[in-house]
Amino acid sequence: MKAMLSYYYTTVMEQQGNGQLIVPLQIYPRACKPPGKRNIHGLKVNTRAGSANNSSAAIPDSLPSHSLKKSSAELKKILANGQMNEQDIRYRDILGHGNGGTVYKANHVPSGKILAVKVIPLDITLELQKQIMSELEILYKCDSSYIIGFYGAFFVENRISLCTEFMDGGSLDVYRKIPEHVLGRIAVAVVKGLTYLWSLKILHRDVKPSNMLVNTRGQVKLCDFGVSTQLVNSIAKTYVGTNAYMAPERISGEQYGIHSDVWSLGISFMELALGRFPYPQIQKNQGSLMPLQLLQCIVDEESPVLPVGEFSEPFVHFITQCMRKQPKERPAPEELMGHLFIVQYNDGNAEVVSMWVCRTLEERRLQQQGSQ
Ligand code: ATP
Ligand code: MG
Repeated sequence: MKAMLSYYYTTVMEQQGNGQLIVPLQIYPRACKPPGKRNIHGLKVNTRAGSANNSSAAIPDSLPSHSLKKSSAELKKILANGQMNEQDIRYRDILGHGNGGTVYKANHVPSGKILAVKVIPLDITLELQKQIMSELEILYKCDSSYIIGFYGAFFVENRISLCTEFMDGGSLDVYRKIPEHVLGRIAVAVVKGLTYLWSLKILHRDVKPSNMLVNTRGQVKLCDFGVSTQLVNSIAKTYVGTNAYMAPERISGEQYGIHSDVWSLGISFMELALGRFPYPQIQKNQGSLMPLQLLQCIVDEESPVLPVGEFSEPFVHFITQCMRKQPKERPAPEELMGHLFIVQYNDGNAEVVSMWVCRTLEERRLQQQGSQ
């Protein structure tokens, strides 16, 4: 990285001297760098393969392991060939706008792969760009069928592009009111994804329906977890507001831990079950960022409870436990995996989610056709 930057500086100086146009900086992360022992939060990282699934050795994954290996191999090939750069990407549709940037569906021409590319404008120094790229390296280590595949990232001028696996079902925020037998299978995947991240000492920090992606194969994957503190900080400087899925202790500015991710898990699934945000006094119009004062009720009031009768007892209990006001009273990772709601839907039945995604996409397509 040092050599690359010093080469870039020299080139810029020469180009300036010759009155030429300055070529923008592109940084490619190293593909096969051995994982460091500590992550960006300064926490010790457990690098043992499969450690995330220790507590769930008997849990069948929804994906056969050979397909996971294949996708990792494909991923490494792309990176090893150094093919992830702006020139090789053809942007197609806009998949959505977030607080930080815009996500595009794109083609990676050399590999023929479809990608989701998140482009975030960032006016930051080269030093910060460098720091972000090194912080993102931990993403290459993430190898779970419940975490979105990461293909690479690069800076061009004042924006960073993050290339990830494309999920053809999109994010859960646009589905709303999901039936419990489908939601149960989705919850299993989300809990496994979070457990995996926690085993790597990574806190997600942004658990919410728009960061849970599904595809027509019935896979569910987490995205947008805060591996890069600098990236999170740089985006936060531009977009002011507080996330409505944040735990009460986080809204109050107290310490953040695994328990805060568990709260966000609970409130997200409550919203997905009800088809509306669980606090009626909080109107989320666009996005999840709100003025802090509007979220004070989450700190002051009792947590909402799912209506018994409409939902099963294990589901109601699961949400109630996750949304305990006291962080320490919320379930620990192994308690989440062992909860009856999760255990009863942990049957590896991806078909249920797949059929529901396909049916919803078809309904949406017909609706769009009808309104044209
Ligand atoms: P925030 O910026 O607060 O995190 P957000 O999650 O809605 O909000 P983005 O992360 O920018 O914003 O994502 C915008 C939209 O792009 C998502 O809501 C989702 O529908 C879509 N999207 C993101 N990543 C993918 C992906 N890998 N595959 C398919 N669709 C995606
Ligand atoms: Mg997102």
